[in-house]
This record gives sequence, structure tokens and C-alpha cells, in this order.
Amino acid sequence: MQVKVLFKGIHADKESIPEKKVVNRISKIRSSSTLIKGEKTILVDSSHFQFKDDLINALKENEVGPDDVDFLINTHTHRDHISNNHLFKNATLVHHKGVWYPDGSIEAYKKVEDIQVSGIKLIPTYGHTSDSISIILESDNKTYVISGDAFKEDIIRKNIQIGYTKSSEYRNNVKNILEIADVIIPGHGDIIEGESLLELREIVQNWKLPKNKAPTAIASAFIKKDNKYLVVFEPKFNNTGIWRVPGGRIEFGEKAENTVVREMQEELGIKVKVNNFMGYGQDKVIVRKKLNASRLILYFECEIVEGEPSIDHDDKEASLMRRVTLDELKKLDPLEESIKDLLSKQEMSKT
Ligand SMILES: [Zn+2]
Repeated sequence: MQVKVLFKGIHADKESIPEKKVVNRISKIRSSSTLIKGEKTILVDSSHFQFKDDLINALKENEVGPDDVDFLINTHTHRDHISNNHLFKNATLVHHKGVWYPDGSIEAYKKVEDIQVSGIKLIPTYGHTSDSISIILESDNKTYVISGDAFKEDIIRKNIQIGYTKSSEYRNNVKNILEIADVIIPGHGDIIEGESLLELREIVQNWKLPKNKAPTAIASAFIKKDNKYLVVFEPKFNNTGIWRVPGGRIEFGEKAENTVVREMQEELGIKVKVNNFMGYGQDKVIVRKKLNASRLILYFECEIVEGEPSIDHDDKEASLMRRVTLDELKKLDPLEESIKDLLSKQEMSKT
């Protein structure tokens, strides 16, 4: 069986956009596409449609036309991995728990491991998404793992131990992939083997499970004026930045209402009056200063009694400030996870 990476995935080059309209932009994004030639011709991930010609040309160099592909396996269903699926009309499409035949019929499996594809093995590697799978195969006496986004070298090197869905699954799968592989072909970035594989193994061996820390308690304010709320943008939050309402950590012995009053003074230079408790929201897991943390946020509706809010001072966390209606707030992206949580609870109580 032969393995050929047609092209490696791109997922970097964050550019700054002037005027802070957007925090950053990823200039190009596509997954890797890998060709496996054995008894059958197998393609793993079809990548992004903007790279359609690259894909077709790379296949051609390997004497494969789109109609020659017998199996198309998707490591997960993010669009940078699947956008060219339609090119492979004769291929049986394989992904998480299912096989789609060219005639449109479907076979569903309870377990990924039960799916049979000519000489290769599929394993679930959830954590990046809840539908992520990896492909294991032997070639040249080496074990290859085509991991999709279950394995990201840059993230592992930054020692970030959390996945998007379930962190413990993500960590276990990263460890498992490193244990079984001689060569890892990730969805994005360089092929990992030899020295760098050993380095990553060592990093991961030293991973300690995060302590089961209690969430940090925060009190935040929905400052209301003319049916609009004040929101701020914190550019450094979780690397992507986040829209949130102003607030801060409840200090030892402090009443949550008083936290709000103090924080508004410190963060925005205003005096507020707390009118009522709106409810609470929780962040699942956030990354802050390489730590895994979670937060429980109590939200209070407030009004300004003195001063004009300003984010123009020394230790500012926020870079933008806006007043928005509730509908506009819901559309802010990315919006703080715990606000979404609060709003979903409110929706539920309405129905
Ligand atoms: Zn991807």
C-alpha cells in the first residue's frame, strides 16, 4: 500500500486587519488531501473548493482521475475537508459511522471500527469534533495515522490540552495517535515523523490532567439605556477575542452586586446602580494564559447613575465598546459562551 500526501493543509498566517474591525484573519485555509493506493484507490479528505485544481492536478501526477477514486474518506465534516467531495462520482463516501454508496444508498454503523475499507483501519478520534475519525494503515513497514484535525502540532507545542468537544477524549486520542504512529499526517501542517514525533511524544507524556478546579465566579453587568446594552470587545480572549458585557471576578468576601459596582468603576469609570439579577451562565472550558479554566458568571441588569463609560485607560482589557439591542447582541461573533448560556436558559423558560 502506498501513501502519498497530495498537499499539506494550511491553517496559519494570521493577519492583522487595520482598525481592529476583525481581530485576525486566516489568509488561506485548506485541509491536506492524502492518496492511498493499494487494491483500491482511497482519498482522505477532499480539501477546500478553492484548491480544486490543485487537487485534480496532484491526482493526475499520480495517474489518478477523479472517477478512479474508489473510497473517499472524510476525517470530519468541516468544510475545509469536504468541499471537493462532489468531484468523486464513483467513490464510496466514508465518514463517521456511515458509508454512502455512489447510488445514494447508505449503510449506517454503530461503531467507526466496524466500517470495512480495503486494508485500512478506522478509529474514532473525537475531541476536535464529535465526528472526527483517523485512518491507520501500514506502508513500508511503518504505521501511518492520517489524523485530520484530531492532531494539531502547533496546539500541542503550545501545551494546550483542550479539544472543542470533550477535552479528555481529545487528550487520550492525541496520546493514542502518538503511541501507534511512526508517521502522522495531520489535517493541517507538516507531516510528523522522526525527531519531531519523539518531541511531541515527550510533551504529551508530561501532560498532567488539569486539576478539577472549581469555576471562577464572576459578576457582570448588562448596562441598560434606551433598550440597548453596553458590550465590549476583549481582543486577547481565547486567542480569537470575544464580545462580552463588562464584569470581573468576585473577590473574597465580596457580594456579587458590589463586584459589579466596583468593576464598572474600574473598567469603565462609571457609577452604576444594580437593578436586578438576570440569571447565570457558564463557560465550558476556556484557555487563559495556557491554563484551562471555566467560569460561572452572574449577570445583573444595571443602569448608569454617574459618568460616561470609557475604555480609554491604562489596564484596559477591552478595545471596542458598543451599545446594542438584545437582537444585535445575539448576533455578535464570537459572543461570550456564558452569555449564550444565559440567553438559552431564558429562551427555555419562555417556552
Ligand atoms: Zn481543518
